[in-house]
Amino acid sequence: MRRILATALVLGLLGLACAPESKTPAAGPNVVVIVLDTVRPDYLSAYGAAQPTSPYLAKFAAQGTRYDRAWSTSPWTLPAHASLFSGTLPPFHRASQSTEHIAADVPLLAERLRAAGYQTVALTNNNWISHATGLDRGFDSLRDDWNIRERRRAEGEKHPTVQALKEWFQRGRKADKPFFLFVNLIDAHMPYLPHWPGDARDFFGSTGQWEDAVNRLFPDTGMALLTRNYALGQPPEEADLERLRNLYRGAIHRADSITAALMAQVDANSDPANTIVFVLSDHGENLGEHGQLSHVFNLYEANLRIALLARGPGFTAGAQETRPVQITDVYPTILRALKLEPEPGCVGLDLHGELPAQRLLTASLERPVMSLGSFPEAVRQSAALARFDRTLECAILGNSKQILGSDGSCERYDLGADPGELHPLERLPGDAEQATSDAIARTRAAWVARAAAEIQGNATTDEKTRAGLKNLGYTADDK
Ligand SMILES: [Zn+2]
Repeated sequence: MRRILATALVLGLLGLACAPESKTPAAGPNVVVIVLDTVRPDYLSAYGAAQPTSPYLAKFAAQGTRYDRAWSTSPWTLPAHASLFSGTLPPFHRASQSTEHIAADVPLLAERLRAAGYQTVALTNNNWISHATGLDRGFDSLRDDWNIRERRRAEGEKHPTVQALKEWFQRGRKADKPFFLFVNLIDAHMPYLPHWPGDARDFFGSTGQWEDAVNRLFPDTGMALLTRNYALGQPPEEADLERLRNLYRGAIHRADSITAALMAQVDANSDPANTIVFVLSDHGENLGEHGQLSHVFNLYEANLRIALLARGPGFTAGAQETRPVQITDVYPTILRALKLEPEPGCVGLDLHGELPAQRLLTASLERPVMSLGSFPEAVRQSAALARFDRTLECAILGNSKQILGSDGSCERYDLGADPGELHPLERLPGDAEQATSDAIARTRAAWVARAAAEIQGNATTDEKTRAGLKNLGYTADDK
């Protein structure tokens, strides 16, 4: 009985009830959300990076607000987008490497906006945003341009997503409705393949150096590089890491130029004064920090910090916001701008409201079973890889950060004095030690309670859910 009551209490806190939808067609504003997959804010010139990676975003930032301390809830696409679309945390939306699907009872932004009278369209280059994962819910149409070869051939205006948007504005757009446009651009995701000269020239001395970098690092999609780094104990040498970083910079430049072409279409077909635009990343990327590459095996800042820029009604031109924000804030900000209420399960804050100076934020990395399974069979069972077979949770309060693993690992950092997270502390200062420990304990309890609710609610998924929970490193008896 005690457990049932405790579960009910946690579920109550999670807020499983849904808010009623408005049936009245909205008058606007239009809403645009562009995700630049895998883009680290500290590599954007729009955020002060020395290299000219993002000339368009620098202009865009001057037209709106730049959020300088923004975090994701996860270091990979599916759970990060699930948080973006729902304002909820991973234990609540349940999109993970073991389920690969968002929980069916979590309302999504496109659903809410469509119910409010919006025309909703998604143009995605990342197939985690698809019918298979449930993230297509609420979109009148979803176009998946997940085709790497095609993407590499097409530049600027000719990029298939830019062409698709142009066509939608010409033929698909219904002028009597406001619209919600979602775009995911995956150009900064591994393999980093910037075009020469347009996107790579600023970061390489010659065509030969650019070609050499591509041939050395990405003869394939990047799996050979990852296998050497993670399973064979052969990390890239510093010269190759610098080549990698420069290819990444060029890849960001490419995402920037495609964003410019997309926004030219948006601005030509809507009133900027009546269109809210978010440009953000879903997570970051490792470029050699902590000996890691790509973005799935840790909760360090290189992986979790995101770019977040917003323009349109209510956002001050040229403002730079330094108070902490999270990817979950986009959902309630858009709903409140439309005078709609987020559900109680939403943990995000309305960015148009007064933001707190201190905020307890959490992020999760469930056992990366799928990522580990993508390595070649011959190395999959290696001890080098096995150390990443764990669930991680982290909590951040001010500059204090704690990361706890299901393998018993515990790391604490002062992000102010040690932004690279190189010097673990014995204990966090003041209230931060207890506050971050409690937040992680609540996160773990929420994973358990949510899975338990699914077991009770649907007997047919019982075994699958229990298996998923076990995969996460938890059992129903865990705290
Ligand atoms: Zn992603």
